[in-house]
Amino acid sequence: MSHRHLCDVTGHLWECDGTAFRLGHREPSVCVCHGCRLPLEQGDHRRCKNLVEIVVCAEHRDTQLRRRQEAERKFQRRAAEFGFEQKWKRMKALPVGPEKDALAEEIVKWLFA
Ligand SMILES: [Zn+2]
Ligand SMILES: [Zn+2]
Ligand SMILES: [Zn+2]
Repeated sequence: MSHRHLCDVTGHLWECDGTAFRLGHREPSVCVCHGCRLPLEQGDHRRCKNLVEIVVCAEHRDTQLRRRQEAERKFQRRAAEFGFEQKWKRMKALPVGPEKDALAEEIVKWLFA
């Protein structure tokens, strides 16, 4: 019994044969059932509460990796402009008080801008 995953690069479902590459892994890992935590390709999981796991498909793995690297580079550029590291260090070193709060707020605003 094969199962499916959602590839979020273009948002399509794909058939999986039991192992898949997950983010941050160099080797494919075994897909486990969300409900019973056993390998999906063993036994019957029709009664299990199973969510479709988001895993990039083989075809889009490179695309995802490239996007991720681009996003990281973009973040680092923005961080350098903002002076993120220095601000972060200063914020952590400050004693609890309005100055620390203000700086923390500034950083949070920037992070979620
Ligand atoms: Zn799978
Ligand atoms: Zn199961
Ligand atoms: Zn895909």
